[in-house]
Amino acid sequence: GARDGLGVYIAKPETYGPDVVVYHNEDFVAIHDMFPKSSLHLLLLPRDESKTRLHPFEAFEDIEFLAKVKAEACKLRTLAAGELRRKYGKDSEQEQARQAALSADPPPNELPQGRDWEQEIMVGVHAVPSMNHLHVHVLSVDRYSDRLKHRKHYNSFSTPFFVPLEEFPLAEDDMRRRPTEEGYLKRDFICWRCDKSFGNRFVDLKQHLAQEFKEWKKL
Ligand code: 5GP
Ligand code: ZN
Repeated sequence: GARDGLGVYIAKPETYGPDVVVYHNEDFVAIHDMFPKSSLHLLLLPRDESKTRLHPFEAFEDIEFLAKVKAEACKLRTLAAGELRRKYGKDSEQEQARQAALSADPPPNELPQGRDWEQEIMVGVHAVPSMNHLHVHVLSVDRYSDRLKHRKHYNSFSTPFFVPLEEFPLAEDDMRRRPTEEGYLKRDFICWRCDKSFGNRFVDLKQHLAQEFKEWKKL
């Protein structure tokens, strides 16, 4: 069924081009999300057959497996950060300052640090995944995408419904184990960048996200 759509990438990653499969190895496949909810949105799929059908909360109870997934997600985050630098480096004041210093004659003794793009990437899972195969989201923080069309799209990446990978293993009494009772997806919209509330006004939120995106990439 539709919820099994990620299985094909695990089974036959070599049949896809680089616009779909970012890379694959024995244990993992990294892909582009087909309906990206940020300007860069990747998925990390572990291939372990004993784990791929489990809910992430259950799969990550295995500490050894969790460590492997964290290490691979770390690699994918670095790769994603490089992608953001390529995409937005020319827009970013921090990157421009570094480039200007590099090409100055003579160059200054202390180069300004380039922008830390890794900090601009979120890594985690949904408390209630919609797709059956175990996957970790690796996406830029902007939440700027024309595929972000529904309130649950925004809130699933902007409330405790999104559980950062680094927070695993979860405590037994962690509230996020009962996400539906908490109603995370029905909460008021809060801007990820400035904390402004938009109530349930999705059109206003979308306009604001476009503005924030412009400023964010220029930082
Ligand atoms: P979930 O809500 O299960 O955590 O996220 C599943 C993700 O898979 C969503 O972000 C969705 O856009 C993405 N997705 C759904 N179907 C496909 C597909 O067939 N191919 C790819 N590449 N991504 C998909
Ligand atoms: Zn804002």
